[in-house]
Amino acid sequence: MSAVLVVHGGAWAIPDKLAKASVDGVKGAACEGFSVLKEGGSALDAVEAAVRSMEDNAVFNAGHGAALNTDGEVELDAIIMDGRTLDCGAVSSVQNIANPVSLARAVMEKTCHVMLMGRGANLFAESIGVATVPTDSMVTEYERKEWEKQKNYITGVMEDFNSQWAHDTVGAVAVDCAGNVACATSTGGIRNKMVGRVGDSPVIGSGGYADNCSGAVSCTGHGESILKVTLARLILSYIEQGKSAADASQLSLEYMGSRVQGAGGAIVVTPPGQWAATFTTERMAWAAVENDILWYGLDPNERVKEQLSRQ
Ligand code: ASP
Repeated sequence: MSAVLVVHGGAWAIPDKLAKASVDGVKGAACEGFSVLKEGGSALDAVEAAVRSMEDNAVFNAGHGAALNTDGEVELDAIIMDGRTLDCGAVSSVQNIANPVSLARAVMEKTCHVMLMGRGANLFAESIGVATVPTDSMVTEYERKEWEKQKNYITGVMEDFNSQWAHDTVGAVAVDCAGNVACATSTGGIRNKMVGRVGDSPVIGSGGYADNCSGAVSCTGHGESILKVTLARLILSYIEQGKSAADASQLSLEYMGSRVQGAGGAIVVTPPGQWAATFTTERMAWAAVENDILWYGLDPNERVKEQLSRQ
């Protein structure tokens, strides 16, 4: 069984000035996640490592560098799911946490619950000794300036419909050498979202899903649209019907476009190691590693191949 790891750094009209940093960021995260698999680590460990690397990278809208809500605050959502057991953990509207994906994993492993939100998630973090970080240390100068410029959610989301949404949620999916799949997704949401708004990312079946019986998916894009069509589960239901990972993603994203006029992207991996990175926005930074080959892209139909050193 050969291991595969795929990551995305968000589906949106990534401006040229952020293109290189976004591609470098997903390439680095994919290699980091894949090295976990190569050392015999689980799919769950690998997706967590890959997502943490992007949460720490200020170019992405997750952890450090996250989008600001109407009050100029950071509220983060994340999910992680183990396809072997269907165990999952999520946090929503959590503040002052550098790596929400790891807090989501702690919810999965250390509580009887699936999702904790806001104050409860922060209290739980404190109880297990997760350090909080000051909000200012999570806000980049870039995000503060963009937020000042674009003070209206509707302008940001609707005016440039289907293309300019300031999305750059991060996600990872993996299958490990034992054939187990996992997914993780982490985001700051959409700039100028209402205080307390929860998007698709932490919602099981929407922002992510993992099941050894079909595959693992992590989604990105307009959260309200993804929620309405439960995009991650929709993709897996097509796979269950015999579609390939690429066709299942394409069909589901097209359905989301025609049914609720929403655009986005998804990464998918199946237990036998089939994978896809698909999007209906202008761009999506993505990278995948299989058999020591790194694949990556940003523009539609772009698929660059790079041989990694075999160590
Ligand atoms: N899906 C995320 C949300 O709506 C945003 C994104 O993917 O960039 O919160």
